[in-house]
Amino acid sequence: MKRINVEVPAPVNYIIQELEKCGHEVYMVGGCVRDSVLGRKPHDYDICTSATPDEILKAFPDEEIIPTGLQHGTVTILINKEPFEVTTYRIDGDYSDNRRPDNVTFTKNLVEDLRRRDFTINAMAYNPKTGLIDPFNGMEDIKYKKIRCVGSAEDRFNEDALRILRAIRFEAQLGFAGLPETMFEIERQYDRLKNISIERINSEFCKIVASEQFCVELVLYPNVFSLFIPELKDLIGFQQNNPYHAYDVFDHTVHAIEKCESDDLVVRLAVFFHDFGKPYSYQDGEDGIRHFKGHGKVSAEITDSIMKRLRFDNETRNNVVELVYYHDATFEVGNKYVKRWLNKIGEKQFRWLLEVRKADIKGQKPDYEESRIEKINNIENILEEILSEKSCFSLKDLAVNGNDVKEVMKLKEGKDIGYWLNEILKRVIDGELENNKDDLVYWMTGVRDGWIKF
Ligand code: ATP
Ligand code: MG
Repeated sequence: MKRINVEVPAPVNYIIQELEKCGHEVYMVGGCVRDSVLGRKPHDYDICTSATPDEILKAFPDEEIIPTGLQHGTVTILINKEPFEVTTYRIDGDYSDNRRPDNVTFTKNLVEDLRRRDFTINAMAYNPKTGLIDPFNGMEDIKYKKIRCVGSAEDRFNEDALRILRAIRFEAQLGFAGLPETMFEIERQYDRLKNISIERINSEFCKIVASEQFCVELVLYPNVFSLFIPELKDLIGFQQNNPYHAYDVFDHTVHAIEKCESDDLVVRLAVFFHDFGKPYSYQDGEDGIRHFKGHGKVSAEITDSIMKRLRFDNETRNNVVELVYYHDATFEVGNKYVKRWLNKIGEKQFRWLLEVRKADIKGQKPDYEESRIEKINNIENILEEILSEKSCFSLKDLAVNGNDVKEVMKLKEGKDIGYWLNEILKRVIDGELENNKDDLVYWMTGVRDGWIKF
C-alpha cells in the first residue's frame, strides 16, 4: 500500500516525541489529518494519546498549560504561545455542551477512540513512525468525495444531532457529497437539531455560509436550514413577476450566493439575507409587475431579529444588517456619491456593499448584467481614486476642526459645532468648497456675517 506522508509541524513533532519518550502512544487526529491528506492547510492540530491527563501533564513539566480544557480531559499545551490540544483516547462520544469529566471514559486503544468520531474522513490518525491509521476507510471516502458516518448514520445522528449540520458543513467545505444513507438520515432526523444549543448550531452554520458550496447545500437541504431559520421557507416559490428577475426569491438568493466572489462571512451572510423582506414588502402594479419598494429596510429588520436569535456577536450582526439595509439603494457613478457613501458607512463596509450588490445583480436576469456590473466597476474605480488621492470624505479629514468652527462662528453650544462641521463636510464632498483652512474660514465668516447666503 502507498504510504501517506503527512507534514508534521515542529511543535507537534515535539509533543509526539516527548510523550513517546515516556512510553505513550501519540497521534495527530481528525481535521488536521483529513486536511493534510486533501492538500488543504490545517488550521489547528488535535493530538490524541494513550496517556491520561495526569501523565500528559507529567510529560511537559516545563511547558505552559491552559487549564480550561482540563475539566474535559483535554490538556492544552502552549508551545511558543500556540495552543495544541492533547486528549486522552476515550470511548464515549459525548460532544454536547456540558462535557463533564465523569462522562468521559478513557481507553488505551486508538481504534476505540476513532470509532466515536463522526465521519470516516475525520476518524484517521497519523504518527510519523506508524504512518496513517485508517480503520474505517476514510481514505476511500476521500477518494470518492463521500461523507460517511463511522458506523450507522441512524445511530450517530441520534447520539448527537449536531452531526447532521456537521455533515452538511463538510460537504460544503470540501465539495463532497453525502452517501445516500447520510442524506436519508439527515432528512429523517434533522428535526432533532431542535435539541442542540444555538451556539453549536451557529458555529457550524457560519462555516457552511463561508464555504464555496453553501449554495449547493441550500438547494439540497432547505428543510434543515429552515429549522433554525424558519423565515427561509417564505422565500421558496415566492414569485417576483418583474422584468429584472428570472427566478423566485429563494432561487435568486441561491444564484446570488453562487456568484458572490467574496469569502468574507459578513458579505456572504448579507447576500443570504438580502431579500428576506421581499415576501412582506411587495406591491403589485396594474401592469402585473411586482415591485419591492423599501424591501431593504424590511429585510434588515428580519435579518437583525434572526441574527439576534442565532446569537451572532454585535459587530457581525450590525455590519450584516447595514449591508442588507442598503443593498438596494441607488448607486450613482460620481465622486461626490462615492464620498457620501464613504462618509456614511466607511471604506470597509462600502467595499463589502459593492460585493453584495454585484452578487445580487449576477443572481438576476442575465440580460441586464453587463451594464449593471460595469456601473459597479466604475464606482470601484472612483473609490480607488478617492482613496489614493486621500480626498476628504469624513469629519476627520476636514481642514477645520470643532475648535475652529466654535471660534470663527462664535458658537456656545456643542451641538451647533457638530451641525456646522457636517454642513461644511457636505459642501466639501459635493465639490462646492475646497478642503483648505483659508477657504473654509472664509465661508464660515461669510455665513456668520450674513454675506454668504445659507
Ligand atoms: P475544523 O477544520 O473545522 O477544525 P475538524 O474536523 O477538526 O474541522 P472539530 O470540530 O475541530 O472539526 O473536531 C475535531 C475532531 O473531533 C473531528 O475531526 C472529529 O473527529 C471529532 N468530532 C468533533 N465533533 C464531533 C461530533 N459532534 N461527533 C463526533 N466526532 C466529533
Ligand atoms: Mg479542528
